[in-house]
Amino acid sequence: MPMYEYRCTECGHLYEQLRRMSEADQQLVCPRCASQQVERLVSACAVGASSSGGKGGGGCIPNGRFT
Ligand SMILES: [Zn+2]
Repeated sequence: MPMYEYRCTECGHLYEQLRRMSEADQQLVCPRCASQQVERLVSACAVGASSSGGKGGGGCIPNGRFT
């Protein structure tokens, strides 16, 4: 299961979450301020991520950022 990184555009909270591909674009709620203005940043090192398009300049997120 790929890990996705999300950012709340309301409070700027950044967090990661494991989600199934089919759930990646489900409605998101910021765990900090409960805003629904959350955007998905990148899928960290997910295989086949090149098909997502959108925000360029992605790639792998270095390991050990959080846990
Ligand atoms: Zn927030």
